Amino acid sequence: MLESVIYMAKVKGKKRLTKVGLIVLVIIPLLVICGVVGIGYMHSKDNKSLNNNSNPTSPTSANESNNSSENNEEPQVIETSTVIRTKVGESVDLVSALAGENPNKGTVEGEYDFNKSGVYKLRYVTTDSNSKKTIQGFTLKVYMDGINLDLSKLTPGNYKTFTTSKGYEGIVLNDVTYIEGFIIANKTYTVPKDYGTSLEKETQAAFDKMVAGAKKDNINVNIQSGFRSYETQSRIYNRHVTTYSQAEADTYSARPGHSEHQTGTAMDLNWIKEALEDRADGKWLFANAYKYGFVLRYPKGKDNETGYMYEPWHYRYVGTELAKILYNDGDWITLESYFGITSKYND
Ligand SMILES: [Zn+2]
Repeated sequence: MLESVIYMAKVKGKKRLTKVGLIVLVIIPLLVICGVVGIGYMHSKDNKSLNNNSNPTSPTSANESNNSSENNEEPQVIETSTVIRTKVGESVDLVSALAGENPNKGTVEGEYDFNKSGVYKLRYVTTDSNSKKTIQGFTLKVYMDGINLDLSKLTPGNYKTFTTSKGYEGIVLNDVTYIEGFIIANKTYTVPKDYGTSLEKETQAAFDKMVAGAKKDNINVNIQSGFRSYETQSRIYNRHVTTYSQAEADTYSARPGHSEHQTGTAMDLNWIKEALEDRADGKWLFANAYKYGFVLRYPKGKDNETGYMYEPWHYRYVGTELAKILYNDGDWITLESYFGITSKYND
């Protein structure tokens, strides 16, 4: 916009751009645009469609939110990159987090719910001693239950973020990749050599619950292979490569550092044979594991997404909210497809 305005000014005048011309052609239109966008932003209550305001300049609606303000001139929202992260069910004192050392505490405006995972676009409003109001936009991110990312380990600058093809947030912390807080190990994403020692605590607890639930249906659930270290995976993979070929091994065995077993969130259950799907225990797992937060990680016919052939025995813990989504009434959605990530080796 700015470029086109300047361009127009140059074409029209072909003279020197005077100060008055600059104000008329550039600054005034810009102020009008900023004002409209600012008001539109403040009035949007729908967090997912901030630019979708049908009536952004309506003076009536503009005054509604101004009632508490002494000053009728509503300042524009200053967008910040501040993200406050928490997990579903764990509330945070937002004002304290935002005010920091500043004794001048503000207020938070906008709708959010600590009991509902999501990304909330909110506003932090402060008023200084001269009654000057400042509105800063910030993001509250409430992660799903069952995430593996330890939010307390995030400090400014110690991690990198990226956005997946489906708009989800990836965080890389200590060479481990988390998408929306879930650790990812597949053909694209690795975990470091020394990562992990055992099944993750939450995964183990969920598994124990599932065992008890299965027992009520007279089904035994047991772990054939749970946590596997980098070294163990290295031995397994190399054995397959020597016995068959690397190309063949890559269809069912992960290269060291790429195995989900090393994350401590995955396990091979009951019987490592495709015929598990026809047995009562295999059928029970397929239909019930999601209720305990487990997903069938490599579903049938999804090789192109997961990078691996069908494995009716391999389950991954992701918490009940995401597991229910991925279960999809039995038509399993893969983590790769849901988050919009790949599972491909570089070579
Ligand atoms: Zn497995």
